[in-house]
Amino acid sequence: MKQSDKITVINGIGEKKAKLLEKLNVKTVRDLLYFLPRGYKDLSHVMDIADVPPGENAFMRIVIDTPVKTARIRQGLEITSFFASDTSGRIKVNIFNQVYVKQYLFQGKEIYIYGKPEYNNRALAVNSPEIYFKKPDSPYLPIYPLTAGLRQTDVRKAVGEAFSNSIVREIYGTGFLEKFGIMGLSDALYKVHFPDSMEEAKAARTRIVFDELLIFTRMLDMFNEEDGQKSHLKIKSSGDDFLKRLAFRPTNAQLKVMDEIKQDLSGGQYMNRLVQGDVGSGKTAVAFYAMDLLYKNGYSSIMMAPTEILAEQHAANARELFPQEDVILITGSMTKVKREKALKNAAEGVKIIVGTHALIYEEVAFENVGLIITDEQHRFGVKQRAKLAGGLQGVHTLIMSATPIPRSLSLVLYGKTKISIIDELPPGRTPVKTYLIHKNKYKDMISFIKKKIDGGRQGYIVCPVIEENPETELRSVKEVFAELENEFKSYNLGLLHGKLKSKEKQQMMDAFLNKEINLLVSTTVIEVGIDVPNATVMTVLNAERFGLAQLHQLRGRVGRGKHQSYCFLVSDSSNSYERLRVLVKTNDGFEIAEQDMKMRGAGDVFGTRQHGMSGLKIANLIEDSRQLEKAVQVLRILEKDRAYVREYGEITKNAARLMQDKMIEIAFN
Ligand code: ADP
Ligand code: MG
Repeated sequence: MKQSDKITVINGIGEKKAKLLEKLNVKTVRDLLYFLPRGYKDLSHVMDIADVPPGENAFMRIVIDTPVKTARIRQGLEITSFFASDTSGRIKVNIFNQVYVKQYLFQGKEIYIYGKPEYNNRALAVNSPEIYFKKPDSPYLPIYPLTAGLRQTDVRKAVGEAFSNSIVREIYGTGFLEKFGIMGLSDALYKVHFPDSMEEAKAARTRIVFDELLIFTRMLDMFNEEDGQKSHLKIKSSGDDFLKRLAFRPTNAQLKVMDEIKQDLSGGQYMNRLVQGDVGSGKTAVAFYAMDLLYKNGYSSIMMAPTEILAEQHAANARELFPQEDVILITGSMTKVKREKALKNAAEGVKIIVGTHALIYEEVAFENVGLIITDEQHRFGVKQRAKLAGGLQGVHTLIMSATPIPRSLSLVLYGKTKISIIDELPPGRTPVKTYLIHKNKYKDMISFIKKKIDGGRQGYIVCPVIEENPETELRSVKEVFAELENEFKSYNLGLLHGKLKSKEKQQMMDAFLNKEINLLVSTTVIEVGIDVPNATVMTVLNAERFGLAQLHQLRGRVGRGKHQSYCFLVSDSSNSYERLRVLVKTNDGFEIAEQDMKMRGAGDVFGTRQHGMSGLKIANLIEDSRQLEKAVQVLRILEKDRAYVREYGEITKNAARLMQDKMIEIAFN
């Protein structure tokens, strides 16, 4: 059989099992070979019953020493049980349903079982262990991530069949394998399923992960190859009257980054730059600086924001900063007529264009556009980012993110993108004081918020969901709003969430900005970018439901003015305290992002929430970071060393295919 064959060519895989496997993204023989176990059953040594640690998996050889009986407990629940023993002790075995096994079990029969025994009334018992009638051939059995209806043995058998009937071709020469100390592919694939030891399983997985990361890294390089191309845009730097128009004196860090951008824009090549700066470090001013420079040289620029509220805020600021210039706002919820008018307007002449991701979906060519800025880029999906990059070529790009990422990762993820860091906050900010609040302090917290409001400040209360749901018991904005309306009778409360019409949202934000609202009860729609310096209290309910980076962003909504600000993380989930305490301890976004990534995995942090969006099936950017670094190093060697032309070619070919797959995926989503 060929690797590209459908899995139905495998003995034992009919249409029904093929359907189930398809759910797990296993469609071809190749997919099956690369369907890696999530763990292994250790059958390498038979344990005496007397030595079995309760609550842990163990492999035992036992003899059934009572009659095997099945009891029907109720509809749909039948328990088959018996006692069994070895020379060291006795154990009770319960098998739920699966009545068919009974015909193979009888008093006096020797069997092997693998399961997790527990003490039940001081007697050792094991529920639904795996049963083997002879000792399995392999000392370690793979455990696959399955779906209902599919059994471990189905997959194990199918994988075995796939190996016996197909050939795995090595893509690297022996020189390469030896030089970089990696296992041959055929060996690696076999041993990752059927290892003789755990070390072997690990080495096998490493080879497969490494392959994938090499291709992934090469693909990112290809994405970034645009960079460095000669730009047709003619931009000359001009006098810095922009700085005079700003309401504040830029920090040295902002000035440094503005200068880097100016160098890029006037350097004759397309800019491809990422600006990283913690929440509140003043990235917007830097973006406007770039837009101003483009404008003066006769080009439009586009600034994209992930939410409508933020886009509106940017547009309002732009109108203040560029009173003479045409600022155009385009969002997804504008009426068709309005939007078409705005789009037409944007396409004519030289403009400052601000919008939400709606912009990406418009196939309008903004002929005059010379710069595209993506604010809070981590909030856009990989898909949207790629779409934007693919849709408009021959422009400068600037992306801005408040999520700092470890250097080794950013090198890979952003490839040849240059990185600027705003590593300084505007003067006069006092760090936000953060507290972890449990149920018993909730009342005190409410009184505290009242006191702050009486003093003229404003606050936010963020809830994880819009509507309540009895199953989850999460606090919903609607419920909390109703509750607080009672509590805050003499104050003005606002309610804000994603289901409101965009006009209503805007009115609410305006009212909050104008201090007509004292306390805003909201979902995370306010998470990014919102800038209301008079708001000094941020309260997050069910804080355990949020990632640390996200909480840091929410906290970034306060501490923007001269008043001392506070953040209350309300949670009664004691398992989350350790995680949440990271925020209490530090205000440093860098440290928080790193902790967050460790705890939650890279997907969330990079906005690639959907599984597989990064194109990686096996490797994990965080857990396999050492392999990732190695992949980058190796790739840099391969680029230059003629001895590895073939390998480099193979990797490039695969990377091109992966990139194409990504593009297709992007196009159809
Ligand atoms: P972020 O980096 O999170 O996007 P913003 O650009 O929204 O930050 O800036 C946060 C707040 O700080 C805004 O109110 C902005 O006007 C103000 N700000 C920015 N730079 C300075 C500065 N150099 N001095 C004083 N205030 C500043
Ligand atoms: Mg911002």
